[in-house]
Formats: sequence, C-alpha cells, structure tokens
Amino acid sequence: MRTKLVIGNWKMHGSFADNEVLLTALVAQVKGLAGVTVGVCPPFIYLPQAQSLLRGTGIEWGAQNLSQRRNGAYTGEVSGQMLTDFGCRYVIVGHSERRALYGEDDAVVADKFIAAANAALTPVLCVGETLEERQAGSTEDVIARQLDAVVYSAGIASFAGAVIAYEPVWAIGTGQTATPEEAQAVHHFIRNRLKGHDRSIAEQLLILYGGSVKVANAAQLCTLPDVDGGLVGGASLSADEFASICRNAVPTHISGVQ
Ligand code: PEP
Repeated sequence: MRTKLVIGNWKMHGSFADNEVLLTALVAQVKGLAGVTVGVCPPFIYLPQAQSLLRGTGIEWGAQNLSQRRNGAYTGEVSGQMLTDFGCRYVIVGHSERRALYGEDDAVVADKFIAAANAALTPVLCVGETLEERQAGSTEDVIARQLDAVVYSAGIASFAGAVIAYEPVWAIGTGQTATPEEAQAVHHFIRNRLKGHDRSIAEQLLILYGGSVKVANAAQLCTLPDVDGGLVGGASLSADEFASICRNAVPTHISGVQ
C-alpha cells in the first residue's frame, strides 16, 4: 500500500519571521496525523531554519532545486550533498517554472534527477503539459517524452523510492484544477508507462498531483486510484489551509476524518 504524501512548494516566498509562524502552526496542526507524510520545500536560504523547527516533528523538508553537478566552479549553485547537510529528504526536480523560466530541458532535468539520487535525496520529478499541448491533444506525448528522458538516462532502478508530480502547467497558480477524470487519466498513463520498465517499482511509486490543490479539492483528488497525494504551491503558505489539505489527503478509514 502506498502512503499518501503532501509536499508544500513555497517557491520564492517566506521570511525568517513568517516561516517561524507558519512552521510552528503547521507542526501543531498536523501533529499525530496518521496516513500521510507531510513535507515542505522552502527557499534554500531557509533550510537551516526549517531543519531547526521541524527536526523530530515528523514533518520532512526539502529543496526546490539542486545543481546537476557535484561541486566546483559553479557560482550560485547548490549541490545535492549540501542539501543533505541540512537534513533535506526531498528535492523538486524539473518544476515547470524551472523548465520555462530557467531553460531546464529534459537532459538537464535528467541530470538533476541523477544528482539527487546520488546524494541520497528523494527526487520529486515534475512533469506536465501546457494548455496549448493539451488542446493539441499531445498531453501523453509530452509526459512520455519528459519521463523517458529520465528513465533512459537514470535507469528505471533509480525510480525506486522516487516521487513523480503530475503538474499540468495550465493548472499551476491559476485556480483551475484538473478534473478528477483528467488527473486520474494522466496518473494512470504515467504508472502504466513505468510498468513497462518495472512493474513493482511502478506500483510502489508515489505520483502526486499538483496544480491549484486546495482544501476543497484535495480529498476528491486523493481518493483517485493513481493519485498518491499533492504537490501544493500557493496553499502551502497558510498553515491552516495546508494542514487541512494534509488531513483531507488521508483516506477516511485511516484518519477517521469525515
Ligand atoms: C506548484 O507550483 O508546484 C503548484 C502546484 O502551485 P499551485 O498549487 O499554486 O498551483
């Protein structure tokens, strides 16, 4: 059985003071919550603060990006090993904002996925189509291309314990969530494609949905057979909202939540 996972992607938000309020409230609100793993990905600079406030609470933390390189003359970059120094468990790889705004193509994303795995981090590999691609009927082709680039470079074995996030670009930060049917169809496609390489790895793989996840839609999305939780942007900046999403992600027979 796959345990649900909800990760907050703070993007370039936060301040020392705001983070303390947010994380302290989150710790109190998700304390004792069973059936879901909760994580947050603050900006790099706040990772020590996250480590100090979250260590021992059961909430995990991670980064939003990493260098594909191990070390060296790469000004401004942060390596996977540096993230492990700050207790990170997760690292987001290939977010659509990084692909679109920072020129990360499939080859770079694959290298970053490998760098994460080499540093014993759990990569959260983001895939997703733009609105134009969906309207052109090429959603599956795009997802297949993004997945295959990583599978063929990194090898299917490196997906054991990894996480994939399906994030339709048109749903990110727009308030427009994929319908349950749209989300389930793509999640099923992802799992099936990976089953073609290794059935057991694919069956155990966590596939998160991301794109305007809110309290109102989290429960419905998380009951879909191939949706194992959420990657949450805007709504993860409110402790109340994010904690409610985490509660709603848990199957009711485990949490007792109605
Ligand atoms: C994201 O950027 O990963 C995301 C899912 O954002 P939002 O929840 O704000 O749509």
